[in-house]
This record gives sequence, C-alpha cells and structure tokens, in this order.
Amino acid sequence: MKKLFIVANWKSNKTRLEAREWLQQFVKRDFQVPQGKEVIVCPPYHLLPFIKDYLLEYIAEIKLGAQDVSSFPSGSYTGQINATQVKEFAEYAIVGHSERRKYFSETDEMLEEKVKMALSQDLTPIFCVQGKETKIPSGVTVVAYEPIAAIGTGNPDTPEDAEEVAVVIKQKNPQVKAVLYGGSVTADNVNSFTNVSVIDGVLVGGASLDAKKFVGIVGNA
Ligand code: PEP
Repeated sequence: MKKLFIVANWKSNKTRLEAREWLQQFVKRDFQVPQGKEVIVCPPYHLLPFIKDYLLEYIAEIKLGAQDVSSFPSGSYTGQINATQVKEFAEYAIVGHSERRKYFSETDEMLEEKVKMALSQDLTPIFCVQGKETKIPSGVTVVAYEPIAAIGTGNPDTPEDAEEVAVVIKQKNPQVKAVLYGGSVTADNVNSFTNVSVIDGVLVGGASLDAKKFVGIVGNA
C-alpha cells in the first residue's frame, strides 16, 4: 500500500490562541493518525515551537513542516529563518509555493539554493510545481503539483489532469518518490485524487484552517 502525505499549509494565518483551539479539536476527537498516512502541519514560523511542544504531549504522530526556508545559512541575513533553525522544530519545509514565487519573486535559482539548504540539514523539501514543465532541483523527493488556477478558488484540477502531470514528473525525475496534488482540496473531493495510483497525497490550504474539515480530509484520503 502506498504511503499518503496529507499536508496542511496554514499560510499567514492563526495566532497562538487560534492554533491551540485547532489542536484541541483533534484531542477532543481522540484523533489518531491513520496507518499508512503521514500528516504534516505547516504553520507560520512563530507557531512551530508551541505546536511542537503540544504535539509531543498529545498527538506525537503528527509531523511539522515550515512553509519556507532561507536560501542562506546562518549569518547576517535579517528576517530570514535558516534550515538549521527550522530543523529544531520540523522535519519538512515547503519550497517554491506559487505565492512565494509571485509575491516574493523567488526564482528557480533561489529555490535550488533553498532545497540545498534544506537537504543539508536533513529537512525534506516539499517542492511545489505549477505544471509539468516547472524545474525540479536535484535531491527533491516529494513534489506537490499545484496548478495556480486551482489554488484558493474552489475549482480543483481534474484527477485526470493531476494524474497526467504526476506521471510526467515521475518519469522525468526518477528521484521523486511522491507527487502530491494541491488546489481546492476538500473532504468531499480528496479521494478522487488519492485514489489515483500515481498521486501520493494532498497539500491543503484553506480547508486545513478548520480542524473539523482537516480531520475529514485525513479520514477520507
Ligand atoms: C495552497 O495554497 O497550497 C493550496 C493548496 O490552497 P487551497 O487548498 O486553499 O487551494
């Protein structure tokens, strides 16, 4: 049976109080990560220490990821969070999200550096691509296919399109072990993607902000 990745990308949302409420919903529901599923929560940086402590106490099997990582090592890079710092709290880092490319002008070259930095600290990059032509840096093993038109719009791509892209990515990049789909995933549509044999999970934005909806996605995936 394939292992499924279910990744929550909170983007720039939630205070510490809101994060605690979200986590409490899981505990109230006696949430257990189902066998064969890797559940990864990617909150904003400032919540990583708090959530890590909470998870250690109550739901140790949920993993943590950052939403980005610096392309620089530690040093004089004001405002940056580097891979060594992320690694203190997380096992994964999203790299190359379309919002980072669009609003922060991240280029293929910068993303290659970010991947190198993540790998140097044993962080697994979840590398976002917007189509089958997006350049994938070497060493990337987990890719998220996120077509821009599907992100935050309520209009997911079709499972057939996602399947075609996943096949091409895996053919062109033999080191890629998992291709996830991202874009308007909900509890109702998640299994139309995860039932596709070459799709290894989902990256969830909006619907991951609501604990109940996210639990539904994890259950139905
Ligand atoms: C995302 O931004 O990574 C994403 C998948 O968002 P949404 O689920 O809201 O479309």
